[in-house]
Amino acid sequence: MAAPGPVLCLFDIDGTLTAPRQKITKEMDAFLQKLRQKLKIGVVGGSDFEKVREQLGDDGALSLSSEMGC
Ligand SMILES: [Mg+2]
Repeated sequence: MAAPGPVLCLFDIDGTLTAPRQKITKEMDAFLQKLRQKLKIGVVGGSDFEKVREQLGDDGALSLSSEMGC
């Protein structure tokens, strides 16, 4: 059996990583920081980039980038 390929975990923001339109909690941030040591993570949401940055922080740890389209 072949080894599994790289894993990308995508998370919804509002109502999943944060309460709707609120900032991420320290506990959830710590969880994401730990998880990203094991696999690649990304976030998906309908807010614009500035709102996502407000909610998740901007210390560079999550390597936020904005992608449009589906
Ligand atoms: Mg949601």
